[in-house]
Amino acid sequence: MKTETDFKTRNAKPKWLKASIPSGENYFKIKKELERKNLSTICRSAKCPNISECWNNHHATFLIMGDTCSRACSFCSVKKGSPRPLHPEEADRILEMVEIMRTKYVVITSVTRDDLEDGGSAHFAAVIKKIKSSGRDLKLEVLIPDFKGNKEHLDRVFAAGADVLNHNLETVKSLYEKVNRKPQNYYVSLSVLKAAKEKQPVTKSGIMVGLGETKADLDELFHDLRENGVGLLTIGQYLQPTAENLPVAKFYSPGEFEELKKTALSFGFAAVEAGPFVRSSYNAGRMYRQGLGKGG
Ligand code: SF4
Repeated sequence: MKTETDFKTRNAKPKWLKASIPSGENYFKIKKELERKNLSTICRSAKCPNISECWNNHHATFLIMGDTCSRACSFCSVKKGSPRPLHPEEADRILEMVEIMRTKYVVITSVTRDDLEDGGSAHFAAVIKKIKSSGRDLKLEVLIPDFKGNKEHLDRVFAAGADVLNHNLETVKSLYEKVNRKPQNYYVSLSVLKAAKEKQPVTKSGIMVGLGETKADLDELFHDLRENGVGLLTIGQYLQPTAENLPVAKFYSPGEFEELKKTALSFGFAAVEAGPFVRSSYNAGRMYRQGLGKGG
């Protein structure tokens, strides 16, 4: 018998997953300014369901190094293909946008740029430095790609001085092949987080559930993240963004997310956000403050 949490098609979403249509004065103002400045956000590229809430609360996640990813993970709706040239003035445009949005907690992520010799690490580091040296009273969280685990490239980004270093595992180890990632990339990502913790005060990671993971898979992942020093964790529901992406294997109910949060906290994370619409940058500032109080 089909249960409430066992829907298989993207149209059969349970009632708690009905997202509101983007609206609100700030939402439209931010949308217009972003377009004027030719800036991308993961909020739009990944079709995030929280866009109205976040943008109306002066919070967006900037997507740097273009809007086209050089990898092809099968859960992700970010455009894939041949990425475009980098724009050296990208940090200035973000700073202008930060000013307009009056945001005190900035989150920046990027597409993966395997096409660039340094993976885009020099550009990413330059953006971090420019924002941190702007003299504005703000915290900066960066959600970075794995830079193929290249130590030189990673050290360049770590040294730039972001306040929080986030790198998502995205899913459990046993599902890496299913999502079109090499299985060894799970370990590359753990090594990125471990190396980050040696240089950064606060590290963070995130996953989506609903791709077919088991409880044992999740326990293993929580354990692996804690073993590598990760203090902050986000857990959200995978939502098939387009018909070309992987179908949802399971919709977790809000109660099941509460249970996941409790389980994850029992592994020793300083802060865990878990919920159907939680994404890695959701309530990022609040989570940072929560985590700081408990040692990150
Ligand atoms: S949760 Fe993150 S990606 Fe989604 S709208 Fe908010 S800031 Fe953007």
